[in-house]
Amino acid sequence: MSTTTSIARVGDFAGQAVTLEGWLYNKRSSGKIQFLQVRDGTGLIQCVAVKAEVGEETFAVCASLTQESSLRVTGIVRADERAPSGYELTVQSVEAVQIAEEYPISLKEHGVDFLMDNRHLWLRVPRQRALLRIRAEVERAVAEYLDGSGFTRVDPPLLTPSSCEDTTELFHTQYFDQEAYLTQSGQMYMEAAAMSLGKVYSAGPAFRAEKSKTRRHLIEFWMIEPEMAFVEHEENLRIQEQMVAHVVKHVLNHCEEELRTLGRDVSALAKVEAPFPRLSYDEAIDWLQKHDFDIKWGDDFGSPHETALANQFDRPLFIERYPTAIKAFYMQPDPSRPEVVLCADMLAPEGYGEIIGGSQRIHDYELLKKRFEEHKLPEDTYAWYLDLRKYGSVPHSGFGLGLERTIAWISGIEHIREAIAFPRTLYRLYP
Ligand code: ATP
Ligand code: MG
Ligand code: MG
Ligand code: MG
Repeated sequence: MSTTTSIARVGDFAGQAVTLEGWLYNKRSSGKIQFLQVRDGTGLIQCVAVKAEVGEETFAVCASLTQESSLRVTGIVRADERAPSGYELTVQSVEAVQIAEEYPISLKEHGVDFLMDNRHLWLRVPRQRALLRIRAEVERAVAEYLDGSGFTRVDPPLLTPSSCEDTTELFHTQYFDQEAYLTQSGQMYMEAAAMSLGKVYSAGPAFRAEKSKTRRHLIEFWMIEPEMAFVEHEENLRIQEQMVAHVVKHVLNHCEEELRTLGRDVSALAKVEAPFPRLSYDEAIDWLQKHDFDIKWGDDFGSPHETALANQFDRPLFIERYPTAIKAFYMQPDPSRPEVVLCADMLAPEGYGEIIGGSQRIHDYELLKKRFEEHKLPEDTYAWYLDLRKYGSVPHSGFGLGLERTIAWISGIEHIREAIAFPRTLYRLYP
């Protein structure tokens, strides 16, 4: 009799027989002994099949297993200090569930297109597994922080009649006889929810037809969007820095092995503690001009500007109070200086760019209505949003954190495409 268990739990069964279900990762043979490296998603274990003990037939099954073949293996768990997991399995029997064709991804360098064409198989390599796991831990840490801080999760719609971001980046679709768009941000809906629940957040996909190819933009990406009633600019930034510091700490504590697999320099992450440094937009422009960037007050930053600014610091940098003219219509002007808005972008260190964009929202009906006119926004599609300002409107703030950018930074990967299982990029919808 054997117990079916996972590789992560074999330590509970030292000296006993267990059955493991998984895939062959690697195999070595020395004539009368075969060493099978088996993985099951929870870990990797070496299974040792000795011909004289298992018999001809089982030994032949072991010999037939190719990399990525699926299998069930039964054997005795033995503690072994030399084994990476601390345990080895002495094989008694093996069942080949399916013999895999030649696995196309080898240890040699492959081109990006080849890897992306084979994304469904590429996901099985240790590096990709590490990234998927870090992603799951980042999502868990975000939820842990927000749920623990009195936020309620609310799921906004993905099909919308309107957009609050750049209309050139919209995906159009048919909604029976109406035109609809895939959501670019759930923010406006979250503002409505915040007036019901106080503090809310969403965690879901956003779609943007980004026409330029960068290592920071996906076409479909995930955003965490908290929205908070009675919260103004200062507190908005405090919540952001605490949340990000919590996420980094959580990953450091829970993904040690994954970060090692990725070769991440964790000493850089260990410095990420609140409060984060801040620059005003004005100070940022001054700094850039002093460092020979061709930029003037009123210009938006490009990625070289963001990288240069953020590289001065060892933790994320807030740039706050951008010119009203280059930011979204719904942002609250600074009462003492209406040419700038109460907003901030959080820039990750090491060149990862903007991971959060946030602001205090306009809560005054008349001011918002004026903004609609200035921006020539169709009032009918936004009527409900204006309506919110008539029924107990209060100062409120929120932000959007890009999940893949945050993961790319924490993981130290070159390109954002590896931070999601099946990336949607400019020229790729397959697999
Ligand atoms: P960027 O300036 O880099 O294009 P943005 O200002 O357009 O970003 P926001 O609308 O502020 O982005 O969205 C909030 C967050 O979502 C950003 O800070 C970023 O982390 C993330 N994000 C935005 N666009 C993308 C994208 N195309 N792919 C991945 N993440 C994105
Ligand atoms: Mg953008
Ligand atoms: Mg931006
Ligand atoms: Mg932004």
